[in-house]
Amino acid sequence: MAKALRCKACKSAFSDKRALKNHNRARHRVRGLATTALYFSIAIGLTASLAYSGAFSPIFTSLSQPAAAAEIIHKSVIFHIHPRLEIFIDGQQATIPADIGIDPKLWKNRTLERYGMPMPEMKEMPYMSPIHTHDTSGTLHLESTANRIYTLGDFFDIWGVRFNATCVLDRCGGTVTMLANGVKSDEYRNHILRDGELIRIEFRRR
Ligand SMILES: [Zn+2]
Ligand SMILES: [Zn+2]
Repeated sequence: MAKALRCKACKSAFSDKRALKNHNRARHRVRGLATTALYFSIAIGLTASLAYSGAFSPIFTSLSQPAAAAEIIHKSVIFHIHPRLEIFIDGQQATIPADIGIDPKLWKNRTLERYGMPMPEMKEMPYMSPIHTHDTSGTLHLESTANRIYTLGDFFDIWGVRFNATCVLDRCGGTVTMLANGVKSDEYRNHILRDGELIRIEFRRR
């Protein structure tokens, strides 16, 4: 059996190179652009300075590997974990949007920005939020360049919607129940996000 290929960023497995390439384009689009831009700027910058110094040809050959730039970006991420989140409002599952913490419209509080993955060539957005989503599955991606804890409250602040003991999204004044891996929790915003856990939040009108 052929060995499965894995996405360097989110560890999803793929049967062939084309599937992996499509995944990167669809899921890690922003990073792809940043990587390409970074590579070009390094290549152009070094080409210019080497042309000046007269040392052009030998070093330039070793730079013609786009993978080198990808390494620079990936090295800085210390951990990458995936908790999952489900939100139910009066029994109806709410959609958690894709690209929270990536799309500027879905990234309200930027306090933790400096712990996210650097995207040096995206001038208006030099980082990706350390907590973000790539799709509407409820999987949260924590990719942090600092060894620190992140809470559920951090995620809701980044998204810019409400969550506490009485409010969820645009609903307030009800009963909020929170389960972490099926166990009732009263930590709410202070809950520390962990790899592979399933967090379920339920809002009910009183
Ligand atoms: Zn991920
Ligand atoms: Zn990611």
